[in-house]
Amino acid sequence: MTTIDTARLAGMFAAIADAMSADRDRLCALDGVIGDADHGIAMELGFSASRDAVAALDTGSADPTTLLNTAAKSFLNAVGASSGPLYATAFMRGAAAVKGKTTLDDTDAVALFQAMAKGIQDRGKAEPGEKTMIDAWAPAAQAAGEALASGKGLAGSLEAAAQAAKAGAEATKAMIATKGRASRLGERSLGHMDPGAASAVTVIEAMRVALTG
Ligand code: ADP
Ligand code: MG
Ligand code: MG
Repeated sequence: MTTIDTARLAGMFAAIADAMSADRDRLCALDGVIGDADHGIAMELGFSASRDAVAALDTGSADPTTLLNTAAKSFLNAVGASSGPLYATAFMRGAAAVKGKTTLDDTDAVALFQAMAKGIQDRGKAEPGEKTMIDAWAPAAQAAGEALASGKGLAGSLEAAAQAAKAGAEATKAMIATKGRASRLGERSLGHMDPGAASAVTVIEAMRVALTG
């Protein structure tokens, strides 16, 4: 059983920010093909801002909900692109899912993860198959829930999530975009991975390592 405290969550944001910086150019290139080439910059800016904002909190007294709401607000302020409100909503919903907890156990952490995916879906109104980040987040959330229910701990659940996200992002190559900027391309979006699904894989993998490694 893992116990995740506020300091561990702050470390998670630092790890995601590092991962986004490392992945920035690939994500911009993917977005350059079917969008406006700013996705890597948006994600790096957003997670750097969240990292800095949560690092400034007193992790001794701030609870996970305060930390996640702080991350949400700073992400939203830093990012002008569509991914801004989507990830901000993810963290706000995650914050609500762990309200009242001072530390998170495996069940809490999976609930947080699933609330993030649901938040993105509620905010963007995308369904699976529309070639968005939801094609990575939705199967990842489902896989995490199934793994936990089958007796796997957090590490196994987030491993299942990371694998499902990867498969989901890969599958976006065969999809025609019907949401977001890429939908303007119609069939010309075929054959290319959705940048938001690609970055979701990186986010989820960084979360997995930071929370269970
Ligand atoms: P923008 O298109 O405003 O430049 P970004 O480049 O940061 O924003 O993000 C693009 C990604 O956002 C897409 O690849 C897609 O995954 C995701 N996206 C766009 N619209 C939606 C939506 N309605 N629901 C979920 N994800 C979306
Ligand atoms: Mg873009
Ligand atoms: Mg843009």
